[in-house]
Amino acid sequence: MIHTEHQRRAYLAALGIDVWVPREQVEPEAEVTVVEAAAAQMGWDQLRDAVAACTRCPLHEGRTQTVFGVGNRQADLLIIGEAPGAEEDRRGEPFVGRAGKLLDEMLRAVGLQRSDTFIANILKCRPPNNRDPKAEEAAACRSYLERQIELVQPKIILAVGRVAAQQLLATDMPVGRLRGTLHYLQQIPLVVTYHPAYLLRSPIQKRKAWDDLCLASGALAETRS
Ligand code: URA
Repeated sequence: MIHTEHQRRAYLAALGIDVWVPREQVEPEAEVTVVEAAAAQMGWDQLRDAVAACTRCPLHEGRTQTVFGVGNRQADLLIIGEAPGAEEDRRGEPFVGRAGKLLDEMLRAVGLQRSDTFIANILKCRPPNNRDPKAEEAAACRSYLERQIELVQPKIILAVGRVAAQQLLATDMPVGRLRGTLHYLQQIPLVVTYHPAYLLRSPIQKRKAWDDLCLASGALAETRS
């Protein structure tokens, strides 16, 4: 049973029916719910357009462009990072700076190309001065990532870095304690590893990141057998 106007609008949006409401009648909370319900129904092109036009959080004011994600839309491996940096904001593609080059090398080491995977971030817009994403920014962006996960239907998710791991697993445990074991996100196996930017600063941890990639590629092989 539909109880409130708020729920009615979310329900109609979930069915893909546009709900036109005079601006003065839209409560901010209801507006977000409608947009979220709509994201859950979108195909790739619509989702990309919605992200490009997004003004859900103040980060849109400082971006050059949104960074939607790239790669194989049917990839078995979905890589999720934190947020675009300066280079990604300029080029509109995730992980294209120094950290991205290292990520590419790490993938190559386990026999994968970047183009075999889909790569996205928790945030689609660059936070100023590369600060950590705020909880409200991650929450505002969440339905876009959720829809990307649904559309890709990956066999394995690799969460790179603390922010991605903690956001996806809803925990505040450090990466050191989250890595090394399989987690599950909506029944999809998820492996946590160090962020390549951290590995550039602490190369001694690269051995552990190698172990994590082996865990992920082993789990992937298992899903195929
Ligand atoms: N770091 C990330 O987490 N994502 C990017 O896209 C670039 C750097």
